Amino acid sequence: ATMPPLLSAIANAGRHGVLVKSAVVMERLGQVDAVALDKTGTLTEGTPRVTDLRPLTGSGLAEAELLALAAAAEHPSEHPLARAVVDAARDRGLTPAAAEDFGSTPGVGVTATVDGRVVAVGAPARLINGRTDAACAEAAVLAAELEEAGCTAVLVEADGVPVGVLGIADRLRPDAAATVTALTALTGTAPMLLTGDNPRAAAHLGAEVGITDVRAGLLPQDKVAAVREREAAGRKVLVIGDGVNDAPALAAAHTGIAMGRAGSDLALETADAVIVRDELATVPAVVALSRRARSFVV
Ligand code: ADP
Ligand code: MG
Repeated sequence: ATMPPLLSAIANAGRHGVLVKSAVVMERLGQVDAVALDKTGTLTEGTPRVTDLRPLTGSGLAEAELLALAAAAEHPSEHPLARAVVDAARDRGLTPAAAEDFGSTPGVGVTATVDGRVVAVGAPARLINGRTDAACAEAAVLAAELEEAGCTAVLVEADGVPVGVLGIADRLRPDAAATVTALTALTGTAPMLLTGDNPRAAAHLGAEVGITDVRAGLLPQDKVAAVREREAAGRKVLVIGDGVNDAPALAAAHTGIAMGRAGSDLALETADAVIVRDELATVPAVVALSRRARSFVV
């Protein structure tokens, strides 16, 4: 028998390195007319590296101590920023202390008890949360400096007091800008950029890939709201993401695609399709495949 067009398209998508989970998904991919992209791990390679270690003046910590403390708290996290911190500590030969009571909040950061201290590591604006004491003020200035330079700044607190800021920088995927161009051509609208990261780093990256609709500082439910807003306006939105923080938006969207190589398990399970090889440029190719298959069906 001849293979039905949607099944051939699934096989073809597989050859492109995209795992499409069902014929229904294969069909829905061709219907999308708007795209929302995550930043960290999706438009960027997701293998960020620690570039700056800035202990606060009053912290009494050396650079290596600041890094070791952050690495201890980040050790159980699968977030790309956490991996960067842990790898940086290992590269310097540091052995982070054991962490207890680990907890993480998507889009915010992590907490853990390390050597009897409650350590928090995460987004400066979220952790500082309007506080204006000297340590918070110094941390905010350091974070802004690092963000202006294109870094993601990560704040480290011990027992509720900021002790230092880390600068972490990630590289754009080589095919990010071309993918944005191709998706714009296919859907007739430029993609949105949805990120939990800070507005300065987000705008910097948006400009590099040609996205002007940049929404930063989003929590997972804010990403869902941005998708729902577009869908309420009659669009069928394709969400592309990698993180635990993207899972609700991947589920809420008309179609969700997860980055497979470094994507979180939750994103891979929630998404309708998975980019198995690490090439973002396969997404427009698969949307085009779906459209061709559909034109056989109707
Ligand atoms: P994106 O939406 O771009 O993938 P996330 O929502 O995963 O980004 O993260 C948003 C922000 O939350 C990060 O830029 C960082 O400031 C903070 N954050 C989240 N998880 C962690 C973590 N494990 N360690 C440090 N910071 C974190
Ligand atoms: Mg991400």
